[in-house]
Amino acid sequence: MSPTTLSSNLNKINQRITNACQKINKNISDILLLAVSKTHSANAVNFAYNLGLRHFGENYLQEALVKIKQLPSDITWHFIGHIQSNKTKEISEHFSWVHTVDRLKILKRLAAQRPSHLPPLNICFEVNINLQAQKSGFPMNDLSELIKCIQWLKEERRLKLRGLMCLPKLTDNLEIQRRNFQTLHNLLIKLNQTHNLTMDTLSMGVSHDLESAIYEGSTIVRIGTALFGKRK
Ligand SMILES: *Cc1c(COP(=O)(O)O)cnc(C)c1O
Repeated sequence: MSPTTLSSNLNKINQRITNACQKINKNISDILLLAVSKTHSANAVNFAYNLGLRHFGENYLQEALVKIKQLPSDITWHFIGHIQSNKTKEISEHFSWVHTVDRLKILKRLAAQRPSHLPPLNICFEVNINLQAQKSGFPMNDLSELIKCIQWLKEERRLKLRGLMCLPKLTDNLEIQRRNFQTLHNLLIKLNQTHNLTMDTLSMGVSHDLESAIYEGSTIVRIGTALFGKRK
């Protein structure tokens, strides 16, 4: 992708975010644009960096490590892929955020492996809103393990609980999009109240549904295709 195309894509996304924020009287600075760079080259990430983007999301550890080594050190890297337990050490060492924690075992490993010279690792719990089979995330109809994670985190200093993340089934139906995101927002409010937490992050919305996500309170939209084009 040429820098010109990337620049024009970024303008379009920023316009979409601005329009959505205006509709609900929200400040655009309250929304973080996370550029999802999986399958795209370090070169493409560097173009995006030169356009001012500083937050990038990656799904595959080995691919991410190659880019992290080559790219400027003031990039904030977010891990947004499914987490296998043998990958937690490098995730904990090289990322600032993990959006896809979905079991206690992973949480414990990330905490134990977070290097002490780094600030706490920012954590979001992934919730499987639509109970899709073969999908990651705590199932929305049984949050017992998620509650265990919350309780375990109270004593933990190497991790900082930031919020919730979801990737609902893609649909063109705007009402269904909004209902899914509203479900996640309501869960965040309820968990904050019940467990006396201060979670401030809703990681929701992709290229296809970022407006609905923003209307329902998203604070991080994760945008791949609309920015970098089709995945390789
Ligand atoms: C790939 C991916 C995205 C980006 O999706 P687009 O439709 O390309 O914007 C966002 N979130 C997660 C978890 C992803 O895996």
